[in-house]
Amino acid sequence: MTSSLLPHASSQEVAPAVSAASAATGEQPAPGARTLSGTGVGQGVALGPVARMAAPLQAPGEEPSALTPEQEHARVQESVAAVAQDLAARGEAAGGTAQGVLQAQAMMAQDPALDKAVRARLGDGATAERAVHESFEQFRRRLEQAGGYLGERAADLADVAQRVIAHLSGLPAPGVPDPGHPFVLVAQDLAPADTALLDLEKVLAVVTIEGGPTSHTAILAREKGLTAVVGVAGAAELTDGETVVVDAAASAVEISPSPEREKEVRARIAERAAAASAPVTPGALADGTPVPLLANLGSPEGAAEAVELGAEGVGLFRTEFLFLSAETAPDVAAQRHAYQQMLEAFPGQKVVIRLLDAGADKPLPFLTDADEENPALGRRGLRALNAQPEILRGQLTALAEAAAATEADLWVMAPMVSTAEEAEAFTALAAEHGLRTAGVMVEVPSSALIADQLLTRTGFASIGTNDLTQYTMAADRLLGSVAELQDPWHPAVLRLIGEVGAAGARQDRPVGVCGEAAADPLLAVVLVGLGVQTLSMAPAAMADVRAELARHTAAAARAAAQAALAAAGAQDAREAARAALADGSR
Ligand code: PEP
Ligand code: MG
Repeated sequence: MTSSLLPHASSQEVAPAVSAASAATGEQPAPGARTLSGTGVGQGVALGPVARMAAPLQAPGEEPSALTPEQEHARVQESVAAVAQDLAARGEAAGGTAQGVLQAQAMMAQDPALDKAVRARLGDGATAERAVHESFEQFRRRLEQAGGYLGERAADLADVAQRVIAHLSGLPAPGVPDPGHPFVLVAQDLAPADTALLDLEKVLAVVTIEGGPTSHTAILAREKGLTAVVGVAGAAELTDGETVVVDAAASAVEISPSPEREKEVRARIAERAAAASAPVTPGALADGTPVPLLANLGSPEGAAEAVELGAEGVGLFRTEFLFLSAETAPDVAAQRHAYQQMLEAFPGQKVVIRLLDAGADKPLPFLTDADEENPALGRRGLRALNAQPEILRGQLTALAEAAAATEADLWVMAPMVSTAEEAEAFTALAAEHGLRTAGVMVEVPSSALIADQLLTRTGFASIGTNDLTQYTMAADRLLGSVAELQDPWHPAVLRLIGEVGAAGARQDRPVGVCGEAAADPLLAVVLVGLGVQTLSMAPAAMADVRAELARHTAAAARAAAQAALAAAGAQDAREAARAALADGSR
């Protein structure tokens, strides 16, 4: 990786400032321009010529091998080892999330079940290339059929197969093109190995034909602050050299934009660059109303960057991310060490640490039941912790010890709370461990609807809009095919958020948002208008949100919220809020 991981440092931001036109996200493409839609990742916008990823290697022929099965197997072993080593080295060079992803891919390459399938085909006389092709394809299809999280790993396995076959054939590994100038990369789907090492000086944005909101392309793009739109079925028609606008906030790719549209986009790019390099100030509305911007973090390693980007504390530390590969429950000492590291990075500031949120897409073998038919509706979050009180008590003990050793203001919160009784029992148990500030996440519609009853029994509420949207709209957050329904702008979701905001004001209790919705600058303004007091997000999103909040007063935010609440659907709500803000508050 040749470039900074900071959010707005890539070359898509070097376009000259043309005017100080509006930077509100999601401007409409010029009439007549062809627009393709997909799922946007982050808020970026980029403009440039397309360069397509090379077509995958041809499927190897079916002619019988001239070598013995043993000789062919030795070739396969050599190539698999070389590919695994290369992936691991790329992971090490990339660091961060990418390292874990690439190591997992290196392990996939060496999976014994795959080796067994390859050997069976070699035994039937196939060449090494053909045996690898057929065996990996068989496993890839199984992953695809499993759908969800596993389905999105299918592209990872296909990439490993291509790399092994290329090595066997003495060809270069398929990878990112280099047309000699900055470009918009268009690919079927990007392998983690390619995404992790993208040169941000050259790649202005990424468009993939496949992939959903949780594909590795999306995860790594978000972490790198890379502009991306994934799952753009129509992108297959894009040709090399064609100019496109990639607008992640609008989830759109516009083909051959008009000169006026190009000008608008360049202005928006320049304005985002200015926001990114603006002095880091505390989050606030135009009238001075403070809206603290907090960080979502998954490990203490991200804390320093969050502080640099202006985090005024932590709004969500996802502790389960620390233990995703643990087979047994972590002991108190190991937990205390990690929590203490996080707290030490924020002396005197608020740090909200969430208890283990295991289940569904984040199973922890020591806490969750792998046999549930429908784990998103099963014993997850606080329900799983309550079923194993020793783990819950162990975590609270570790948190209390870490808090006692540091100067941060520790707030603890329970995930997936759905009843007032759960909120009350959790708060009492936290108090028993000496933890004074305990609260709950509002991720289930029932909790939003009884927010007053929750907030008389617990210290604060933090709204998890990712799950709240999933459960309100009955749309699996991992499933690309229902991605359109997973939109926190839907007035049904906004109404529930408004219930919690109003209950917070009535009960004089803090209410924040820590789901992805807080990272959408326009929605952030609406959330504040609904009574939300703090916003917690990936640090890479802070500059955009800070800049948008500073443009509007509290009265304008409330008017935008009312306009969005009155809309019939998510897209209408977005447009109504944008229009209300354009009318009243700039
Ligand atoms: C949420 O559901 O919005 C949330 C913040 O929790 P997670 O994304 O970890 O489920
Ligand atoms: Mg959640």
